[in-house]
Amino acid sequence: MALNIVESCVSCWACFDVCPSEAISSAPTQFLIDASKCTECDGVFSEQQCASICPVEGAILLADGSEANPPGSLTGITPQCMLEAMCEIQAR
Ligand code: SF4
Ligand code: SF4
Repeated sequence: MALNIVESCVSCWACFDVCPSEAISSAPTQFLIDASKCTECDGVFSEQQCASICPVEGAILLADGSEANPPGSLTGITPQCMLEAMCEIQAR
């Protein structure tokens, strides 16, 4: 099983150097994980290093397809919070 980087990746390079398996590479529009090399960091780290360091919510998917850093997990701004703020602004 492997993690996956999706289009919201901003190509910041943060994950590139922390991968113990050299599974991450750059590509024209986003970084990519080679599924044949990704070990999910098993046996080396207790946390998947790419997901731990990635600053973009939703840019990395876990092996089960769920977001490693779902909305609100890094910024503290949950989708509900954002919705309430937008409603408040629009009501002004
Ligand atoms: S989960 Fe670990 S091995 Fe897989 S790409 Fe991320 S850092 Fe590399
Ligand atoms: S750390 Fe996240 S945003 Fe940065 S290159 Fe890796 S996947 Fe893309």
